[in-house]
Amino acid sequence: MTATQSLPVETAHSVAPLEGARWDLLVVGGGTAGIVAAKTAAGFGASVLLVERDRTGGDCLWTGCVPSKALLTAAHAAADARSASRYGVNVSGVAVDFAEVMVHVRRAITTIEPTDSPAALRAAGVHVAHGTAHLTGPQTARVGDSIVGFAQALLASGAAPTIPPIPGLTDASPWTSETIWSLPALPTRLLVLGGGSIGCELGQAFARLGTAVTVVEAAPRLLPREDPDAAALITQTLAADGVTVRTGATVTAVTAISGRAPGWRAELADGTEVVFDEVLVAVGRRPRTTGLGLDRAGVAVDGRGFVQVNARLQTANPRIWAAGDLTGHPPFTHTAGVHASLAAGNAVLGLRRTVDVATIPRVTFTQPEVAAVGVSAEQAGPQSGLMVRTIQHAEVDRAITEGHVAGFSRLILDRKGRVVGATIVGPRAGESLPEVVLAARHGLRARDLAAATHAYPTYSDGVWKAGIDHVQHQLHEPGMRRVTSALRTVRRAWLAR
Ligand SMILES: Cc1cc2nc3c(=O)[nH]c(=O)nc-3n(C[C@H](O)[C@H](O)[C@H](O)COP(=O)(O)OP(=O)(O)OC[C@H]3O[C@@H](n4cnc5c(N)ncnc54)[C@H](O)[C@@H]3O)c2cc1C
Repeated sequence: MTATQSLPVETAHSVAPLEGARWDLLVVGGGTAGIVAAKTAAGFGASVLLVERDRTGGDCLWTGCVPSKALLTAAHAAADARSASRYGVNVSGVAVDFAEVMVHVRRAITTIEPTDSPAALRAAGVHVAHGTAHLTGPQTARVGDSIVGFAQALLASGAAPTIPPIPGLTDASPWTSETIWSLPALPTRLLVLGGGSIGCELGQAFARLGTAVTVVEAAPRLLPREDPDAAALITQTLAADGVTVRTGATVTAVTAISGRAPGWRAELADGTEVVFDEVLVAVGRRPRTTGLGLDRAGVAVDGRGFVQVNARLQTANPRIWAAGDLTGHPPFTHTAGVHASLAAGNAVLGLRRTVDVATIPRVTFTQPEVAAVGVSAEQAGPQSGLMVRTIQHAEVDRAITEGHVAGFSRLILDRKGRVVGATIVGPRAGESLPEVVLAARHGLRARDLAAATHAYPTYSDGVWKAGIDHVQHQLHEPGMRRVTSALRTVRRAWLAR
């Protein structure tokens, strides 16, 4: 395309030129946040241009949630087959065909892809342009060779993996969450740098598929943001899967090993080393702001480079909004979607809705899963006035029937017994989480959870029993003694009638 040509933008009904157009909402980025914002605003009748430089669908569809969960499904299937003899079912000859595993991963992506496609966006009334957007002023942007105007804009360019500056690391051609999906074969020895959610999920997946995995984490434990008991359980499970877990450890250099057994050597700060063939880096993510033109548009960033937004998701330029990983809010697809929808409404309808970051759920999809919301047990220290009620899954009948008792359901409650946080560890723990998210969002109390009938036998019995446990504790508190003694009198009178 030459400088004099304007980039065509296709709609469901027409092909309109971009140059000179003024849109009610310009959306930069076609990942979850961009797609949801664009569809929401178009649904409100706004003229919306979404600009995506690569593929609509973003990280979640192509390199994040979808491929990682598909890979984990295959890995868990292999592990379940290997361990089926504990139920008296003998499965022999379990073999992993990595090429077929990747076919399954790609099939999951292609099945979901139409929902996020340009065609689906156009059907929702969104104008889609393929190209890179750069802000050129407070209300203008360059898209390809065209300058477009906007009344409002929403930035949703996401975040990308960082590669730490470890000497020699780039020589080993490190994989990241963006590239690992094109691995040609199952690695023999995989070093995973980073023991957060992504490192633990992918580390467990590759270990269960047959790779010798070492996870190196600088913090004293895996999943540093989660409940320490949850982290301990995941560490045990990974060890049982054959993963070597090195916490409180940092890699200082990477060097090539030549000779008859080539590979790579990672030197650790404590003088030990890890030998590997492939390395996956999962140590953090940086916002995609390079070339966005934030300065020209008057958009400010925080100390880590994430776009600063207020509670209404407005940037320092009141006509420009931001949502998703770019903002440094908890980096999840559900955050991106919910925040983008809210920001789009604020942008095109002038609403003043604000985000609630206190009750954003998070799930690490290892086996067992770690699902959590709100305040953690660590924050609920003795000075906090918060109460912790825990039910070990050895007391949950569904866990017993399935032989998965290594887990727990934990509620964090304020002085009035209201749910302010929870951690659940167990199979499909993420499926038990919405109940406590709802409770935390709406100030429900443990007694409300206890009063709701839960289907038996389910893992959500754990949350229910934690609620009942709290009610029983309350009955033994000094203020309640007169009530319980009165109840005893009533009971005696009833039984003696
Ligand atoms: C391995 C992995 C597993 C994950 N698993 C989960 C999970 O199970 N559950 C969960 O909730 N979250 C998960 N996440 C996180 C989730 O993928 C992200 O939070 C989510 O995709 C963020 O969406 P977004 O719209 O903010 O950004 P993105 O999806 O990154 O979309 C940004 C888009 O903007 C485009 N872009 C960037 N700059 C420009 C520009 N200048 N012009 C035009 N286009 C531009 C990019 O090409 C990209 O398509 C996972 C992430 C990873 C890496």
